[in-house]
Amino acid sequence: MNLLDLTKSELERFCIEHGQPKFKALQLTKWVHNKGVHDFAKMTDIQGSFRDFLSQKLNIYIPKIIQSTKSADGSEKWLFKLKSGEVIESVIIPEGSRITACVSSQVGCAVDCSFCATGNQGFSRNLSLGEMLGQVWAINYLSNVGRVTNVVLMGMGEPLLNYSNLIEFLKYLLLDEAYGLSRRKVTVSTSGIVPFIDRLRVDCPVSLAISLHAANNELRNKLVPINKKYPLEQLMRACRNYQDRAPRKFITFEVVLLDEVNDSLKDALAMSRLIKDYGVNAKFNLIPYNAYSKGVFKKPASEKIKGFQTKLQELGYVTTVRKTRGDDVEGACGQLSGIVNNRISRVGVLEKSEIAGLF
Ligand code: SAH
Ligand code: SF4
Repeated sequence: MNLLDLTKSELERFCIEHGQPKFKALQLTKWVHNKGVHDFAKMTDIQGSFRDFLSQKLNIYIPKIIQSTKSADGSEKWLFKLKSGEVIESVIIPEGSRITACVSSQVGCAVDCSFCATGNQGFSRNLSLGEMLGQVWAINYLSNVGRVTNVVLMGMGEPLLNYSNLIEFLKYLLLDEAYGLSRRKVTVSTSGIVPFIDRLRVDCPVSLAISLHAANNELRNKLVPINKKYPLEQLMRACRNYQDRAPRKFITFEVVLLDEVNDSLKDALAMSRLIKDYGVNAKFNLIPYNAYSKGVFKKPASEKIKGFQTKLQELGYVTTVRKTRGDDVEGACGQLSGIVNNRISRVGVLEKSEIAGLF
């Protein structure tokens, strides 16, 4: 059994069932998540006989890093091979004293947004708690960039469709004895799974980013098909409700800018109106479309992107344009899985040396 797959209460139960006080679970958590120790023999404040028992019953399994590619801008993309043979990706983005880990929540994604490489790949399965924690653990303790200060769930997958594992993952990120991050520094990005936005507000209200992309249902239905189930009216109401528990003053609205599709000044105005109508405090994060091999869209010219940004700023919104960090290693938004795509089912039967040649 992988210790990383045990929730906080499961680990407590494990300790109690094996004759240990409940607080041992927290000591174990500290060794593993806070100090990066994976050898039970080194956990000196845990009784010798229990340490032996732990090493018989549990292991600390980190998905195998099969490739790490550094981009010219300093960000790094890591490919992890899971026990199942599937491959997921994480991106490390260092910026001054901040080290952001962009982590994956699923293998593939069922939402199937029309501009996204992960969606294009289809859905395979949810990541387990241990597979999500393993990404952060590996970046913290196996990379030489330093400790993760911020986590964004903007890798492969729709985090709110892996809800129960997501919540347990978030709890470890926030736990002082584990990663000790503040709620502000952990961001869940979602395509808009309304019932789970409502639940997140209650269960673990971290920073929220909404992938908006369009201000009307007709266009959003095409770009983000889940909009047919949870249309903009419902999504905006969920955002408004979220605000009273949100750790930041603003909800971030992400807009992937697609040439001639949603990048006009009229689109910018419509988005700002929609948000205002619902009384949501918003910040915009514009993401120029990142092309991938099967993508059909185009990235707008930089003057258009600038114009869109200026319009939103004039309308009173803090608006940033996301640098397309890591795009030379296909680690930018929506490109994740781009290169794994066709190979995902083959990797499982290949040897490590062959994999190295593939990527
Ligand atoms: N599933 C979640 C989080 C992962 S995607 C979501 O959709 O929010 C993270 C961000 O990358 C989202 O805002 C998504 O819209 C954006 N994205 C997806 N494909 C992209 C592409 N090809 N170019 C730029 N951004 C993209
Ligand atoms: Fe899934 Fe997000 Fe990609 Fe849409 S943009 S397909 S929700 S990962």
